[in-house]
Amino acid sequence: MAEGVRVRFAPAPTGHLHIGNIRTYLFNWLFARHHKGKMILRIEDTDVARAAERACETVVDDLRWLGLDWDEGYGVGGLYGPYRQSERLDIYRKYAKALISEGKAYFCFCSKEELEEERKAYLAKGKMPRYSGKCQNLSQDDIKRLSKDRVPAVRFRVPAGTITLSDMVKGRITFDSSVIGDFVILRSDGSPTYNFAVVIDDAEMKISHIIRGDEHISNTPRQIMIYQALGFSIPKLGHVAMILGQDKTKLSKRHGAMSLSCYKKAGYLPDAILNHLVFLGWTPEHTREIMSLKEIQDEFSLDRISRSPSIFDPKKLDWFNSQYIRMSDPDRLLDKALPYLGKFGINEDSLLIDEERERLKKIVLLIKDSVSKLSEIPEETFFFFVDEIKVCDKSVIKWLKNATAGPALAGFIQVFSHINITRFNSEEINVGLKKVIDDLGIGARKTLMPIRVALTGRTKGPELHAIIDILGKEKSIRRAETALSGIRGNLDGATGL
Ligand code: GLU
Repeated sequence: MAEGVRVRFAPAPTGHLHIGNIRTYLFNWLFARHHKGKMILRIEDTDVARAAERACETVVDDLRWLGLDWDEGYGVGGLYGPYRQSERLDIYRKYAKALISEGKAYFCFCSKEELEEERKAYLAKGKMPRYSGKCQNLSQDDIKRLSKDRVPAVRFRVPAGTITLSDMVKGRITFDSSVIGDFVILRSDGSPTYNFAVVIDDAEMKISHIIRGDEHISNTPRQIMIYQALGFSIPKLGHVAMILGQDKTKLSKRHGAMSLSCYKKAGYLPDAILNHLVFLGWTPEHTREIMSLKEIQDEFSLDRISRSPSIFDPKKLDWFNSQYIRMSDPDRLLDKALPYLGKFGINEDSLLIDEERERLKKIVLLIKDSVSKLSEIPEETFFFFVDEIKVCDKSVIKWLKNATAGPALAGFIQVFSHINITRFNSEEINVGLKKVIDDLGIGARKTLMPIRVALTGRTKGPELHAIIDILGKEKSIRRAETALSGIRGNLDGATGL
């Protein structure tokens, strides 16, 4: 192929990207990168009423956030632009005119109402509705006369015969054109229909391979006929089976699938999303789950794409995300976590102070193994940032009401007050905790749990010595004292805990 591999992603700008079209992008992108070809971004906005510039930018922002680039197209330019269909209307009209002059398309004056009548009549006879062909053979005079009252649409004249598709994923598929009625390629408002515009764009933009969802299979015979009528060579087509929900129906919010903006907000990492999505339909030769895009790109081939639908499982995505959070470089993870710490007054300025940066890094590293989304970080770390610990949950308060809580906290305060601040490190803290346990003689759990609750307000979390290390001597003791005086106040009959 003279131009080499040229693939494209052609979304209608209808909002944020979602699981299905991100995977389509990814497969095309991997194919392009594997073959050292070109990735093209085209915006298909002729069906979208007045698609705002903002909607196109949303697509661009989403792709950039995912770290997926493109070589040519919207926002980048290239030899075969414009790359936004609404800016290519003259091009579609030129080709429609050519087809009309060759008798391969014709003007159709049928109104919406007439077409609806026709449709109903077919259905009433138990037949598949299709265009009757009413305007197929209008004379020039008819056309002149009818044009006075109505602006016509342009219909493609479907030739009789069979159409064969050698699909790169599905194999050979044959269609019978007799079930396809003549279809509109240009609406009466002059806008092209999807099947027409897509062929012209793919041909003009020298697209070599089309990889898309198999919901487009039924469009393919129409597109092949247009390629043939215009004398264009047909790109290689590959239709990838859909991603379904766990109940095997079309994927939707109901199945826990969200738009990219929601995944962003919830704190999923782009690499985790991409790694997961590529496995919804593609498998590497040697089974592995965590693979970098570079590794996948090196191995990517269409013959390892499954012919059957893949099932989306949000829990699996969470698993991928937790793995990627664990593997993150600490500085990068802190940068990603920062927006989620905003509610504690932490922001980019906080990172300018070395000591604070180190403290925040320690905090994020401490909990990275226990979160599957960055949005879980505030809940896991709030006790490092608040001034006072308030315990509300009954199952947590019970640890402070326990008779052993007072002695445990008193023991903690006693032992830890004696640790020299210059030696207040993880090792000393561990030694100190062990001493508190040994002195009390009621076992580790009963001793440490009230201390944990006093320091964090929770019964679960990272290791206590690491928490104490980050909180520091003064704050840890102060929290234990506050809890202890609460307990004593309670014993004296005061309200509090
Ligand atoms: N705009 C179409 C879509 O988003 C493109 C289909 C195609 O790839 O041909 O589904």
